[in-house]
Amino acid sequence: MDSKPVITLKPREEDRLMRGHPWVYDNEIAAADGAPVPGGEVLLKSARGKFLGSALWSPASKIRARRYSRLDEPFDRSYVVKRLREALACRLRHRNLEIDSMRAVFAEADGLPGLIVDRFVGSHGSERGSWLSVQLLSRGVDERRADILLALDEVFAPDGIMERSDAPVRALEGLAPRSGVAAGSVPDSVVIRENGLDFAAHIGSGQKTGWFLDQRENRAAAASYAHGRSVLDVFCNQGGFSLACAASGASAVLAVDSSADALASVEENASLNGLQAVVRAKEANAFDFLREEEKSGRRYGLVVLDPPAFAKNKASLEGAVRGYKEINLRALKLLEPGGVLATFSCSFWLSRERFLDVLDSAAADAGLTLRYLEELRQAPDHPVISGYAESRYLKGCIVEVVGPR
Ligand code: SAH
Repeated sequence: MDSKPVITLKPREEDRLMRGHPWVYDNEIAAADGAPVPGGEVLLKSARGKFLGSALWSPASKIRARRYSRLDEPFDRSYVVKRLREALACRLRHRNLEIDSMRAVFAEADGLPGLIVDRFVGSHGSERGSWLSVQLLSRGVDERRADILLALDEVFAPDGIMERSDAPVRALEGLAPRSGVAAGSVPDSVVIRENGLDFAAHIGSGQKTGWFLDQRENRAAAASYAHGRSVLDVFCNQGGFSLACAASGASAVLAVDSSADALASVEENASLNGLQAVVRAKEANAFDFLREEEKSGRRYGLVVLDPPAFAKNKASLEGAVRGYKEINLRALKLLEPGGVLATFSCSFWLSRERFLDVLDSAAADAGLTLRYLEELRQAPDHPVISGYAESRYLKGCIVEVVGPR
């Protein structure tokens, strides 16, 4: 088995991998024998020679090797097909997502490190179909692009595949951004169903893969508090929360985002569902907007806060915590007595404990007591894997203002 290059770790660096974590960092490696090539397969061994699995080599990245299997097996087309089928089976086993749009592959958590695939099932004009939005974010999967596209075609038989390998993290792997239609044909937007509503997912041009599937269940959870309330949806993107709240009987919804394109989608989505009289879109920087809204004296019955990841790495965490604290404090001050806040952080670096602490301290600064109604996480088609904390990234809470006590 040692015909493949072998990466030997320094003493005791195997513990994290033994617990299930898939990454080997540059500073954990004692020796790389057998001339590993960029994106190539390597075998991982502990300092004592214990076999730890198969990984793909990425010489430009601090994450020098990403383990894809605990066995000695090749990462070829049939491996990808096997993992794609497993990923699909686990999603169908746990819930009936077969006609729904879903995150079909969640990278390391599905044994395909660096590969993200969102599958959109819906319609384009009068045509029904399914399309994939794919991100290749590591050297290993980038090198295997052709095989991966063939495997995706074999398992999902989509009408088209859009590649969105334009995320900034690619630079950390020494890869240039790449995006465009990779197979078949892909319309700029596809109308998908979510929680009984129609949404135009902009798979050709939207942010990330075109639609944030990870908040599906959380949109329904937040909307269950919306009836009869005025709603403020901050960082609304294409209006996932706004529309869910409007459809649940909100008296009015104000959707705020800094992206004009996202807001055009909010209006499109409101029209698609006949809710344009309820939902209003406003372009603004959330920090400025929240400050001005507080001064204006306007108050809301439900506020949704779903910011982008303020902490992109460990070094930016403290600044990010101040940002999260500020928006949560301001949002709490905008609530009517008895109002509800649905608040999220999609940054892995902000731990659950720290997130709850941000909320508690925002409440204290606002002079309010909160009742924690629900604690939320990412949708189940973004699986969380034991030993790999990074897979547990989205945290959310729905809280109610009890009043100054
Ligand atoms: N709630 C959305 C997803 C939000 S993604 C959903 O349910 O799909 C984060 C959004 O924040 C993006 O749309 C981005 O355009 C927006 N954004 C980023 N920085 C912002 C800022 N400073 N002010 C307002 N919006 C911002």
